[in-house]
Amino acid sequence: MSTSSEHTTDTGVDFMTDSRPIAVGEALPGCKKRDPIVVAENVTRSFGGINAVDVDYLEIPRHKITALIGPNGAGKTTLFNLLTGFDTPNSGTWTFEGKSLAGVSSYKVARMGMVRTFQLTKVMGKLTVMENMRLGAANQPGESLGKALFKNIWGGREKEITAQAEVLLEKFKLDAKTDDYAASLSGGQRKLLEMARSLMVQPKLVMLDEPMAGVNPALTQSLLDHIKNLKADGMTVLFVEHDMHMVRHIADWVVVMAEGKVVAEGPPGEVMKNPAVIDAYLGAHHDVDLGDAEGIRELEAELEANDESVVGTEDAGIIGVETVTGQPHSRTEKDTP
Ligand code: ATP
Repeated sequence: MSTSSEHTTDTGVDFMTDSRPIAVGEALPGCKKRDPIVVAENVTRSFGGINAVDVDYLEIPRHKITALIGPNGAGKTTLFNLLTGFDTPNSGTWTFEGKSLAGVSSYKVARMGMVRTFQLTKVMGKLTVMENMRLGAANQPGESLGKALFKNIWGGREKEITAQAEVLLEKFKLDAKTDDYAASLSGGQRKLLEMARSLMVQPKLVMLDEPMAGVNPALTQSLLDHIKNLKADGMTVLFVEHDMHMVRHIADWVVVMAEGKVVAEGPPGEVMKNPAVIDAYLGAHHDVDLGDAEGIRELEAELEANDESVVGTEDAGIIGVETVTGQPHSRTEKDTP
């Protein structure tokens, strides 16, 4: 368990209780942050005629949990791919900890301390849980052809890696599965394994693409706690998520994308009332306050009368009355699968 002294930054600020504003000045799209860890400028990526990403300026705040939200096809995953070297932009520059990452390959980005997980997990099913963890480690001399034959060169590092993996597996409650094949894990356990494996390089920024997708509700709370613990352990988190409960529950800051652009930024409560966000999710329903339960009920009634418009509403797992009241709303026949 971490203590408050472990939460102190180089400047002596306790980042767990730091309640100073995250943005410098007004929380507008592309606003400057007090302490950014990632700075992206003019990053664009098009596929055929579609501008999947067209971000003028974006800063990700250090030691905070930032949610990247937006309707389907907004460009969230593409932006993740570009920032982490899994895809190449048409234009743009971006830095991590002040260092340019343009042209840096994904494995080097990870070794620099910026790791990501995927919407669909990429654990190796035919390897055991421990073998998957070992693959996540950096600086293993035994991977070099010239040194592989000499165990005395790499044996010590192998032991260190195994010990580090055991600590993480225990933390993520996967220690009982150490020797099981990753293919035998549930969807949620695979997400946990992917997250644990990403921590083997002791990253500073962890980027999670839809961590809740496909996770059994029984594991949801534990996943949320693990994400909050990443921050408590000194890491910065950026995650893509459609589940607004989760966004409201754990995000310090929310960035909203639509049609490739950043259309809004701010603290979760404020962003959900922002007309640009309502517009991005709901099209013409400008007059609804997503931070207000009555507004959501009115919208639900309106949408029920017009089934054609049920796009980006609660049915898509995006925004519901529970989000603003914290209470589950009574199920109607329409909710029943
Ligand atoms: P979702 O929430 O559904 O995952 P998203 O916000 O992550 O969506 P992206 O997956 O980044 O959105 O897609 C942005 C746009 O780029 C979409 O129109 C998508 O169809 C398009 N796109 C993404 N990857 C490719 C690709 N490899 N080839 C062609 N088009 C692509």
